[in-house]
This record gives sequence, structure tokens and C-alpha cells, in this order.
Amino acid sequence: MTVGGRTMSHASVGLDDDVDERIHTVLIVDDEAMTVSALKHQLRRRYHVLGTTSATEGLAMLAENDVAVVLCDERMPGMQGHEFLAAVSARWPETVRILVTAYADLPALVRAVNHGQIFAYLSKPWNAEELERVVEKAVGVRALMEDKRRVEEELHRTNADLKRVVSKLREFTHAIAHDLQEPLRTVTAYASFLDEELGEQIDPEQRRFLSGISRCSGHMRALIDDLLLFSELERLPVTLATVPMEEVVRQAVALLDAMIQDRGAVIEVNGPLPVVKGDLNRLVLLFQNLLSNGLKFNTSTPPRVVVEPTPAAGGRAAVLVRDNGIGISAEHFDRIFQIFHRLHSKREYPGTGAGLAIARQIVEVHGGALTLTSEVGEGTTFRVELLAAE
Ligand code: ADP
Repeated sequence: MTVGGRTMSHASVGLDDDVDERIHTVLIVDDEAMTVSALKHQLRRRYHVLGTTSATEGLAMLAENDVAVVLCDERMPGMQGHEFLAAVSARWPETVRILVTAYADLPALVRAVNHGQIFAYLSKPWNAEELERVVEKAVGVRALMEDKRRVEEELHRTNADLKRVVSKLREFTHAIAHDLQEPLRTVTAYASFLDEELGEQIDPEQRRFLSGISRCSGHMRALIDDLLLFSELERLPVTLATVPMEEVVRQAVALLDAMIQDRGAVIEVNGPLPVVKGDLNRLVLLFQNLLSNGLKFNTSTPPRVVVEPTPAAGGRAAVLVRDNGIGISAEHFDRIFQIFHRLHSKREYPGTGAGLAIARQIVEVHGGALTLTSEVGEGTTFRVELLAAE
């Protein structure tokens, strides 16, 4: 901002680099006709200059013209300069505002800054060079505002396009997963007809082929089910309620009871756990995935998973899920969240590779974040951050 020839702040930043070939419109509003014509005379070589001695007419000119910069006198009958500039600021925020008034009229300047959010202040009588410099900078600011608006509009359009594409992709994923179910059911049914047909006469090689079909179709069934679950979770909206994390973990542990018994595993809750805003069923599914991974990718005796609270900032609550498993090397941290991406063969560790994609999807629709730290051979810690309940 320029005050009586002094630059007050942001005005000159980066403006010299922009070459703007357009003829911009500058409006002068001053109740003294002499001042209007003097300013017009001085600025008309570079700008399209409009002038008026009436603030009301000035507003009408702004409504009809694309005015880049307005210069306005503070003392005018009817409407004071700062009132006029406040009206301009509210209706045409991209019109850059300059106040012209008698030297050392500090109260006028304060009012214009506070109400009219002016860009610069020129004291009367003005210096010709200074006037040109201030108007040039003001035009530059206007060009920057226009650029910013254009970029924002472009961003909005791109975002809307992206949303449309994502939504089509979701529908497509869902339709594919849905349509694959039927042929898979048929393959499974034919395999079992063949098994019945051959009965006792089946030879070892035929038995091997049939069990191969059965194994593969079982895996395909699991992949399709996970894909359907993933796309369902993306399509259906979540309703957030007040959910105690202890209840979430209790239900997830109950669902994993057989696996826990089977592995002789220990699940420890170092409470109290926070209460969050969430969808209970989805959060149970999230913890079921994290806890079962902690037990599955684990060769320690006993496999142990600890759930405990951890600090979180800004209205959030966080929980750690810490295991003593095989760990994950840092280079895989991003990829393990991609659907069907696995680091091990099915033979080593069973699974489809959808668990963490589902987990992250659940956390993100809750407005939270799912991150991890891990040390190969030491264990992995997932951090689940959600919105805290009030
Ligand atoms: P799945 O469990 O079906 O393989 P996930 O999406 O849950 O699929 O996990 C993707 C991969 O990330 C796993 O195959 C495994 O390699 C790795 N992973 C996930 N959780 C852990 C964990 N707690 N410890 C070690 N590796 C893990």
C-alpha cells in the first residue's frame, strides 16, 4: 500500500514481471471538476479513463464498465470517499481502490483503510510521477486478482471433472465385481457336477485339476467379495455417531476370536481409549483388518497386538495398533494401501491384499488419517486418527 508516496506493504510484489497489454479502465471520482480533468489528462495516455464529480454516478459507471482502478476523493457532498470505497469493495472487490485527499488527513485514511480496504493513498497536491507509479501498481494488483480468480475457477472445474470421473469409476468397479459373480458361480457349479459325475472313478490327476479349480475359484470369490465390499463402502454414505473406541475394539476382537485362539495370540488394550465420531460397523471392520494383520504377519510367540491411545491435535483423537510381527520396510509404506497389493505370496500368508485399502478408505471417509511406522523384524504400529466426540 502506498501512503502519500510511501509504499506501505504488498503492492509491488512480483508486479514488474507481468506484461499486461490490455488498456485498463480507471475511474476518477472527485467533486472538483478541475481535479477530475487534471487526473484524466495525466492518465489518459495509458488508460481508458472515466471521470465524474458525483459518487452516485461513479457507482453507475462501475456497474456498466469493467473498472480496474478507482481513484476517489475523501471529501464529497452526499457520500464521503470512504463510504463510496466501502460500497465499491463490497460490490466490485476486484476494482482496486485508491483514496486521494488533502495532506495529513489521517482520520480519512483510517476510515478508508478500515471500510474501503484501499490499496493506496495519494495526498493532494499529488506528484505526477508518483500518481503514475501508484496507478500502475494498482493495475498490476488487479491483473493478479484476475489471474487468481481464473486459476480458482479452473481448479473448481477440474475438481468437478475429477469427481465425475471418480464416481464413474466407482460405478464401473461395482458393476464389474457384481457381474463377475455369476460366471464364477457357474464355474464352481460345473466343477462340483464333474466331481459328482466322476465319483469313485476319479484318478489322482483329475482330482488335482478339480482341487486346482476349487482353490482358484475360492480365491477369486474372495477377491470379488473384497472388491464389492470396497466399492460398497465408497458408494454408501457414512453416518457419524458418538462411538467409544473400546466398544469398537471389543467387537473386533470378538470377531477374531477363532484366529486369536488358533494362534495363541494376545490382544492387549492399554486404555482408556477415546470416544470418537464414527460409524460403529465400519470402525469395527477397520480394527478387524488392523488386528488380524497384526496377528497374521507375525512369527513371534505369542503374537501380540497392543491397542492404546496416543495424543492428537485439533479436535482429533488417535489410537495406536502396535504388533510384534514381521514388520514392513519403509519403501512399501505407500503401496500396501493400494487395493490387492501384497508383499507376500498367498502360500506364505493368505489374503487378498484388500484389507488396508478398505482400512484407509474407512478412515478417510471419517475425515481421519491412517499412517504407520515399522521396523523389519521388530513390528509395525498403525496410527488411526479420527474426529474426537465433543
Ligand atoms: P492382506 O492382509 O490381504 O495381504 P492388506 O491390504 O491388509 O492385505 O495388507 C497388504 C500387505 O501389507 C500385506 O500383504 C502385508 O504384506 C503388509 N502388511 C499389512 N499389515 C501388516 C502388519 N501388521 N505387519 C506386516 N505386514 C503387514
